Amino acid sequence: HHGCIEVIVGPMYSGKSEELIRRLKRAEIARQNVLVFKPAIDNRYCVENVVSHSGVRFKAHRINKASDILTYIEEDTQVVGIDEVQFFEEEVVEIARTLADRGLRVIAAGLDMDFRGEPFGPTPKLMAIAEFVDKLTAICMICGDPAHRTQRLINGSPASYDDPTILVGATESYEARCRLHHQVPKHL
Ligand code: ADP
Repeated sequence: HHGCIEVIVGPMYSGKSEELIRRLKRAEIARQNVLVFKPAIDNRYCVENVVSHSGVRFKAHRINKASDILTYIEEDTQVVGIDEVQFFEEEVVEIARTLADRGLRVIAAGLDMDFRGEPFGPTPKLMAIAEFVDKLTAICMICGDPAHRTQRLINGSPASYDDPTILVGATESYEARCRLHHQVPKHL
């Protein structure tokens, strides 16, 4: 068997985790050996599972760095799932390539853009070397059009371009938005 890389991207709430889990469950039903990983930084809902916003889940290993994946791979591993791939370092691209070259099916899901609308971490490179890329959309919370972007709100207002990743004391949230309604004011 030859391997391949599949990438599932889109903004938050576009169904990336749901789609990843759907593919993994089908592989498992076909009695393929599946391993799933997510970065330790992503504690959304659950420590031991990949969980979608709609509640579907699949067991996963939390790892600190992409190369940890190699320590879990066994002779009979056929499918490797990676969720929130944007949070891994650049090396995740080489890990995915190595596994696919060895004949494994690698399915990675993650954000293609950050809240500024800029390419996010290793995702763009992974998209470039993948056999298959699916770019999913959510629904814009302002107008109902297809949403390709993630709006970051801090205390209810659009985040600025230079806002740090963590703002002490602020409550932040995220919304799916279309290009027209996605706001990232530049600091003057
Ligand atoms: P992702 O991994 O891309 O963040 P999930 O698979 O976790 O997406 O969640 C997708 C689910 O999010 C949808 O099935 C739906 O239940 C929910 N959802 C919440 N907000 C929206 C939205 N604005 N547009 C579409 N789905 C949304």
